[in-house]
Amino acid sequence: MKNHIIADMFEKMAAVLEFKGEMPFKVNAYRKASRVIGDLQVDIEQIWRQGRLEDIPGIGSGLAKKIDEFLRTGRMTKYEEVMADVPPGLIELLEIQNLGPKTLALAHEKLQVNNLEDLKRVLADGSLARLPGMGAKKAENIIKGIELYERAKGRISLGIAVPLVEEIITQLQERTSVKRISPAGSLRRMRETVGDIDILVETEKGAEIIAEFVHLPQVTRVLAAGDTKGSIIVEGEIQVDLRAVRPESYGSALQYFTGSKAHNIHLREIAKKRGLKISEYGIFCGKKQLGGSKEEEIYENLDLVWIPPEIREDRGEIERAAEHNLPNLVSLEDIAGDLHVHSNYSDASISIEEIARKAKELGYSYIAICDHSQSAKYARGVEVERSKHKWQEIKQLNTKISGITILSGTEVDILADGTLDYPDEILAQMDIVVAAIHSGFKQRVTERLIAAMQNPYVNIIAHPTGRLISKREGYEVDLDAVLRVAAQTGTALEINAYYDRLDLSDVNARRAADMGIKLAINTDAHLLEHFRMMRLGVGVARRAWLEPKDVLNTWPLEKIRQFCQQKWQKLK
Ligand SMILES: [Zn+2]
Ligand SMILES: [Zn+2]
Repeated sequence: MKNHIIADMFEKMAAVLEFKGEMPFKVNAYRKASRVIGDLQVDIEQIWRQGRLEDIPGIGSGLAKKIDEFLRTGRMTKYEEVMADVPPGLIELLEIQNLGPKTLALAHEKLQVNNLEDLKRVLADGSLARLPGMGAKKAENIIKGIELYERAKGRISLGIAVPLVEEIITQLQERTSVKRISPAGSLRRMRETVGDIDILVETEKGAEIIAEFVHLPQVTRVLAAGDTKGSIIVEGEIQVDLRAVRPESYGSALQYFTGSKAHNIHLREIAKKRGLKISEYGIFCGKKQLGGSKEEEIYENLDLVWIPPEIREDRGEIERAAEHNLPNLVSLEDIAGDLHVHSNYSDASISIEEIARKAKELGYSYIAICDHSQSAKYARGVEVERSKHKWQEIKQLNTKISGITILSGTEVDILADGTLDYPDEILAQMDIVVAAIHSGFKQRVTERLIAAMQNPYVNIIAHPTGRLISKREGYEVDLDAVLRVAAQTGTALEINAYYDRLDLSDVNARRAADMGIKLAINTDAHLLEHFRMMRLGVGVARRAWLEPKDVLNTWPLEKIRQFCQQKWQKLK
């Protein structure tokens, strides 16, 4: 049935024509046709075969011809014409609620917004809110629209799921007498996106807690409310399940519902060989329960050490647990600084002083201010002269604020020809040089990344694959080649902790670490709130089996300086 394809095409045409300022009656004709066809309860092809397209209300001869063309040839000339001169990333944005074609046209014209990334940027730095007729409230609604749009794609990004589940857990702790409570499922394993959200609570009064749960203020729909399980929909789209379990089964239920499936199947096989049985209720020998109150008891009864949730993927962790030889995973407490943060020298709105004070509050001992470089006009890249001014300011702040070292850095653009956007003598004066590709995603990306890594002053490659989880595949890059050169040159790679990037991914970060490459977990913060995303990056690093020794920004500053020095010595 092609009804929805055609409905989608007409809806897109309506949006694009409206964006282009076309007469409202034309726009409305397409929109109405889209709705009618979308709601049609019979196959449009059947009506077409009977020659009755024009019997459909709202379909005149012009639209009927277009449908006929599409059903005959699989193409619609008018559709292609309308879409031709609009960037594809922009068309996608027309689906975002609360944005509207007029606002988008304005953002496109005034702020060069061409895709979702651009839109997020102008929302984050406040420039969209400053446009005539906009304001903070409208901008906030657009952010909500984006969240909805991203959620509609079926998965919730970790950056939305983590704060949401924390909020629900806090509310339940305030309202009820919960004992132990924890997220489970892929969220607890810190997968980059999650489906539904699972929470587990220890209680002997399940019905009471579930009654509170389904009456939380953010609930938009209740799917189930029993004695042991409640299911709610929050924020329109997200399903959250709460399971109430008895104290003697809390650990085994947590283990069971955390997964992964592959990990649990492997555990069950081991149990079976020993004549034991594990389930969500506990670990049993015949009818006798050997354990289950604590998660550790499940593992211990199989002669395994407890395995951190992030690595429960059956990727070798069970064998290592049997040898009592699990990696000493990096944790948030190990993080000593952030090596990629933006200030109001480029496209963020936060001052270096605010950043430094925030970093100090987080217990960091250093923070690198890595603003965009001069060619990055879209992000107010810092020219050489302003760079010098920035160094001056950093120098002063370093004497003014104690207990934190502010590093002068840059996120230097890797240009189309593989050269860097600052001359070497400027890079040489930076404490930290992060290099990144921000344009020309299809142009010789591998060669450009390699050329950048061969520069003795480049310390870290930011977001090495360029993927955006909700909307963009990575660059066309030969990652093996990039990893080889990173290892040879002593260049670190980034795990960008920004929730939509999480780049390198867990799998790729593990490959890098296995080759001896060092990684840096950076937030790429443009707002103070973004510092909170460090935990997402740490989650990825843990899934990648990284230990503190693998992660640059767990090291003392002196050791980082040596790391940079070594590369320079080797390549100068
Ligand atoms: Zn970047
Ligand atoms: Zn950045």
